[in-house]
Amino acid sequence: MTQATEAPVFRAPHGTHLHCKGWLQEAALRMLMNNLDPDVAERPEDLIVYGGLGKAARNWDCFNAIVKELKHLGDDETLLIQSGKPVGVVKTHPDAPRVLIANSNLVPRWATWEHFRELDRKGLMMYGQMTAGSWIYIGSQGIVQGTYETFAEAARQHFGGSLAGTWTLTAGLGGMGGAQPLSVTMNGGVALCVEVDRTRIEKRLATRYLDEWTDSLDEAMARVQRYVAEKKAVSIGLLGNASEILPELVRRGARPHLVTDQTSAHDEYNGYIPAGLTLEAAAAMRKSDPEGYVKRALDSMRAHVEAMLAFQKTGSVTFDYGNNIRAQAQRAGCADAFAFPGFVPAFIRPLFCKGIGPFRWAALSGDPEDIAVTDRAMMELFPENEGMIRWIKAASEKIAFQGLPARICWIGAGERHLAGLKFNELVREGKLKAPIVIGRDHLDSGSVASPNRETEAMKDGSDAVSDWPLLNAMTACSGGASWVSLHHGGGVGMGFSQHSGVVIVADGTERADRCIRRVLWNDPAMGVFRHADAGYDSAREHAERIGLHVPLPR
Ligand code: NAD
Repeated sequence: MTQATEAPVFRAPHGTHLHCKGWLQEAALRMLMNNLDPDVAERPEDLIVYGGLGKAARNWDCFNAIVKELKHLGDDETLLIQSGKPVGVVKTHPDAPRVLIANSNLVPRWATWEHFRELDRKGLMMYGQMTAGSWIYIGSQGIVQGTYETFAEAARQHFGGSLAGTWTLTAGLGGMGGAQPLSVTMNGGVALCVEVDRTRIEKRLATRYLDEWTDSLDEAMARVQRYVAEKKAVSIGLLGNASEILPELVRRGARPHLVTDQTSAHDEYNGYIPAGLTLEAAAAMRKSDPEGYVKRALDSMRAHVEAMLAFQKTGSVTFDYGNNIRAQAQRAGCADAFAFPGFVPAFIRPLFCKGIGPFRWAALSGDPEDIAVTDRAMMELFPENEGMIRWIKAASEKIAFQGLPARICWIGAGERHLAGLKFNELVREGKLKAPIVIGRDHLDSGSVASPNRETEAMKDGSDAVSDWPLLNAMTACSGGASWVSLHHGGGVGMGFSQHSGVVIVADGTERADRCIRRVLWNDPAMGVFRHADAGYDSAREHAERIGLHVPLPR
């Protein structure tokens, strides 16, 4: 395959005119194109959707070939995708997946960035990230909701269910970190977000993720105190370097209620600005003295983490937000860097025990009103789920759609199939203009093995066991999902994770009812099984409550 020179611009078709032989194939086609919509993807011209090099197809020839195959694919056929390239069509049946996807998988001994890059250069592989190569990315809404859910759980665990009257100290207002201020204020709290790059602050102000900013620490702290006293939910950007500001706040005896960080600490060369350097000086030093730069960045991260540890000692709820800053500080000699937990064991695991995770759906009609109809249906279906209702109301007001209108909300085992069946009924009754695509992130309760993130500190020490995502994908296939994916390396890089994805289309048919009842029951059930097996009592209790059979007793 050669790289095509032209990089066309795609937007998913809207409306009810079919370009394929059925809605399942059409859904795959539209979601593939939606991933590359210029409003959705970071670098659509290079087929890059998000997350560094996360791609939707290996190259433009492969993309065109996938589109052609999907247009001709029958209801008794299944298209095979190997790292973004269509490699075969097999005979199946109407309840089977229409597409099976395997991206970026390497035999463990060879699972390094170096080996992957070599294969990538030869055109033999592609990095699928999580939802890029599995055609179910929906833009930044997914990040906002995950971050919102993390702070909501922190509020439930530590502050009586709301962040009102509290302040959160964090840093980094980039692609993912930019969701922090909005997520804190949506939970009722005050956020102080330290960011070294003024353009990032301006971007978050322009998109209304951040409320106000200052370059004065004194001014920032005066506002924090005022808003906390008034129980006003306001986010403040503070222009400065976190490795200078946090130690200074420790010296001043500041007492934030929550402390975390989303600078790009995982990448000491490109992602973290050392103390004492302007952005320009940092860029110059990266070129003139790369080794010196890395040492300085790691030393700064050590100071940053030592300040986080000091806050933790005085009672701040402190956690790592998936950027590996603890491991980086440890490299620089901070022996007790891992004294504060990662966000999954701290806040997300109790949700994972109930199979709760980032459920999402998109309207193939392209009409935002279809999402409004599903929003109302969800609030009627789960009236007791106050957190979800608060999120849906806030999201419908504050989140702009990117590409096909979509919604995300965290629900779990025993709930997702009810939502899917309801959407299918709404399609059948003509209350929605076209079918709904239902999926989830690979960052979910029973679909990922990632010892530095999703499966950090499992109760039985089974962090690195990756049988679970494999079982998850097989379960999705046997239940009749519309497309299923198995990936490696998402989120944390090559060698560090294996994960699977599932998508099912509610096209209003009885066949869809049948498949939804199986797939959306089984998929979150895998998370309950995984956590029950690891020894979590709440997973066992949830299994009993919803009637899930766990073979062996505790
Ligand atoms: P990004 O590179 O877009 O943004 C990082 C920001 O940090 C930039 O705006 C940068 O100017 C700022 N920064 C760098 N050094 C700084 C310093 N010393 N002081 C203050 N600001 C500084 O990255 P992103 O997409 O926002 O991701 C942030 C981190 O979160 C990454 O490490 C990423 O891997 C991780 N992450 C976490 C999750 C999760 O679910 N928790 C998900 C995805 C990514």
